Amino acid sequence: MAIREGKWRCTNCGRVERGSQLACLGCGATRDENVTFFLEEDAAEVTDAELLRRAEAGAEWLCEYCSTSNPALEKKCKQCGAEREQARAREVKEIPLAGPVPAMPAPAASSSGCFKWVVGLLLLGLAFCAGLGYFAFRESDEPVTVENLEWSRSIDVEALQTVREEGWLDERPSGARVLNRWQAVRSTERVQVGTERVKTGVRDKGNGFFEDVYEDQPVYDEREVKDTRAAWEVERWVTVRTEKADGPGGEERYWPQLDLDRNEREGARKEECIAVLKGASRTYRSDLGCERWQQLAVGESFTARVQGGSTVKELR
Ligand SMILES: [Zn+2]
Ligand SMILES: [Zn+2]
Repeated sequence: MAIREGKWRCTNCGRVERGSQLACLGCGATRDENVTFFLEEDAAEVTDAELLRRAEAGAEWLCEYCSTSNPALEKKCKQCGAEREQARAREVKEIPLAGPVPAMPAPAASSSGCFKWVVGLLLLGLAFCAGLGYFAFRESDEPVTVENLEWSRSIDVEALQTVREEGWLDERPSGARVLNRWQAVRSTERVQVGTERVKTGVRDKGNGFFEDVYEDQPVYDEREVKDTRAAWEVERWVTVRTEKADGPGGEERYWPQLDLDRNEREGARKEECIAVLKGASRTYRSDLGCERWQQLAVGESFTARVQGGSTVKELR
């Protein structure tokens, strides 16, 4: 714990005195209770044994009769001889170091031109997306005629197949047959590797001396956490083919006949009811749902609500 000698300013004549000096050398006034000690940045460490003994003795006290500053070790006032008794000691204060103020990085002169370009391009991109969005969602009305009606129904056929996969060993599916394994970095973690002594402030010892205040702060390190990865084989249901049925409008819709092998099963079903609509300038293939589709007949005319110039949302 480094001890440094502070300074104080005489409240009577303004002279700055050393912390070890109990009275002003200019006017003779004793330092009163309103005096505050300060520590100059380049104050040297105290090595003199007598000064160190005074620094460690504790805060000085102020005589209740003549206000003279007395070292902690004195039992009687060196000015008037009064006993210390209930005389108040000067306050011992801890003064924390101001934390470092993070400097705002100034933009480099050479990058400002580049920065403008980047901003310009970003704005251009935004404008482009906004325009695209406008055209994609813009709706318009258009007269159309039903030119054709088509339906289709399909069923996926899945088969149990052996597939090769890779992943963390502890996340392998049940029934997986591990082929090989190896170590890989899965995550990182913060580990305390020790402590360092950091100066966090100074202590005003209330007697003209200061001492440095240290704190042990933890030191951390980022460490890689390894784990076992593996390659395995496992049986999974995989779509191997899709059976399909289709036909024109007005016909009873049906699901395709499935002819399943021993290791096969039925997968996802899908249904589509398409109306081919001839507009003024183009033909639309539109799926408005099978219920609506059933009410349509080839040759009928409607007003179509078209979104983005390509999708029919509604027929009226
Ligand atoms: Zn003075
Ligand atoms: Zn006194």
